[in-house]
Amino acid sequence: MKPDIKGLQNFIDEDAIWKTVQDTAGTDAARIHDILEKAREAKGLTLDETACLLHVEDPQLNEAIFETARTVKQTIYGNRLVLFAPLYITNECGNRCTYCGFKATNTELERRTLCAEEIQREVTVLEDQGHKRLLLVYGEHPKFGADWIAETVQTVYQTISQRSGEIRRVNINCAPLDVEGFKKLHDVGIGTYQCFQETYHTDTYAMLHPSGHKQNFLWRLHAMHRAMEAGIDDVGMGTLLGLYDYRFDTLALLAHAAELEKHFGVGPHTISFPRLEPALNADITFNPPFPITDAQFKRLVAVLRLSVPYTGLILSTREGQTMRRELLDLGVSQLSAGSRTYPGAYADPNYNRPEVQQFCVGDNRSLDDVIQEIIHQGYIPSWCTACYRLGRTGEHFMGLAKAGFIQQYCLPNAMLTFKEYLEDYASDTTRAIGMPLLQHEMETLPDTRRNIVTARLCRLEQGERDLYF
Ligand code: SAM
Ligand code: SF4
Repeated sequence: MKPDIKGLQNFIDEDAIWKTVQDTAGTDAARIHDILEKAREAKGLTLDETACLLHVEDPQLNEAIFETARTVKQTIYGNRLVLFAPLYITNECGNRCTYCGFKATNTELERRTLCAEEIQREVTVLEDQGHKRLLLVYGEHPKFGADWIAETVQTVYQTISQRSGEIRRVNINCAPLDVEGFKKLHDVGIGTYQCFQETYHTDTYAMLHPSGHKQNFLWRLHAMHRAMEAGIDDVGMGTLLGLYDYRFDTLALLAHAAELEKHFGVGPHTISFPRLEPALNADITFNPPFPITDAQFKRLVAVLRLSVPYTGLILSTREGQTMRRELLDLGVSQLSAGSRTYPGAYADPNYNRPEVQQFCVGDNRSLDDVIQEIIHQGYIPSWCTACYRLGRTGEHFMGLAKAGFIQQYCLPNAMLTFKEYLEDYASDTTRAIGMPLLQHEMETLPDTRRNIVTARLCRLEQGERDLYF
C-alpha cells in the first residue's frame, strides 16, 4: 500500500520554532522565576515559556526548575509509578532508518518474527514476572498489515499463564497505518498507539530515512490524527534525541501536541524521550550528530513535566540505573523494567545477544530489582489498567486528571495492583520492604477511602484478583 498524502500539510512551522528558540536565549532570572510561578499552577506552559526554561544553564535556576517539577509531579501523580515491558514481535523491516539496528540494510542482523506460540511463550514469561501492561513493538514490513498486528494483540490478550496472570493492557509501537488499519487495532482493544516522529526537522528527517515507507514525513506526522479519527483516544508521541537539536524537536513535539488538542480536544496521553543508543551497523549511533548531555536531558524531562503536566512521561531502559533514579523525581510517571529488545528474547536461554537486538539496553536489571529500588525511593509501583478498561480515556481522562482525580483513584488502584504483585510475584526481600510502604501509604488516605481500600486488600489476600476503582 502506498500512503496517500494528498492534501496533508506540515503544521510544524520550522522557521517560527527556530525563531522561538533564538529569541528566548538568555532570558533573565526574574522572567524564569515568573514562568516557574505559573508552572506551579499545573496548567501548562506556552512554547515561548518552555523554550525559556530549556535554555537555563545557571545552577540555581536549574535547581529551581527541578524543584518545581518535583512539586508538580507530586501534586498530580503522588508517588505512584506505572510499570510496563516492551515485547518485540518482529525485527523484519523494509525501512533504512540510519540509526536503527533493524534497518533493512543490516544484513548481519538475524531476522525473526514471532508466531502465535512464540508470542504466547514470551507473554507467559512476562506474566510470571508480574507484568500486566505490555508495549508491543514491530518493524515495518510489507508482509505485516493491520490484520496481522491485530491478531498478535489478540494472542497476547488470550495468553493466560497457568501460574497467575494475564496482560490487561496492550499498547502498540508500530509504523503508521491508515484509518481503517487503526480501526482494526481499536477493535481488538489496544491501549495507547505510540509512534515517534524521530525528528520534526524535514531536511534531517529526509537524510536519516533514505528509503522505505518511513521516508514519508507527512504520512508519519499525521499518524496520530488518523489514529484518533479511528477512535484510538490515547496516543503516545516522542522524538529520538541525538538526531537533531533537542530544543527544536521538543518545541515541535509540543506544537504537534497542541495541534491534536485543537482538533480532538485532547493532546497525547504520553510522551517518550528516547536518547540514541548504540546499535549494530548504525554508525550514527556511536557518534550522534546532536548529542544531548545528561544535564540537558534532565532539564528537558523536568521542563516537559511543567509544560504538559497531565501527560504521562515514559522512561525506557535505554537509560542507565543512575539516570533513571534521578528522573523519577523530576517528572517521569511510567517506567519500563526488565526490558529485552529483540523478538524471542524473554524466553531465550542465551539472552544477551547484541547481534540481534535493536539497540543496547542501559538498565539490565530484573523487574523485581527495579521494584526494590523504586520502593526505597518511596514510590508505589503500579500496574493499574482501570481507566482504559472503564472507558476513562482521551478527553474524558484528561478532564478527570485535571480535576485531581489521579490522586483519588490512581493511588488506591496502584496500591491494589502493588498488593497483587507482593502476593504473587515478589521476592522475599521485595515483600519485606514493600509491605511497610503499602501500610504507610494507607495511612495517607482519607478515612472513607482507607476503609474501602482495606476491604479490597483483604479480598486480594483471600485470593481475589484484578480489583479496581
Ligand atoms: N518500526 C516502527 C517505527 O519505526 O516507528 C516502530 C518500532 S521502532 C523499533 C521504535 C522506536 O525505536 C523508533 O521510533 C525509534 O525512535 C527508536 N529507536 C530506533 N533506533 C534506536 C536507537 N539506536 N536507539 C534508541 N532508540 C532507537
Ligand atoms: Fe524499521 Fe522502525 Fe527500526 Fe526504522 S526504527 S529500521 S522503521 S524498526
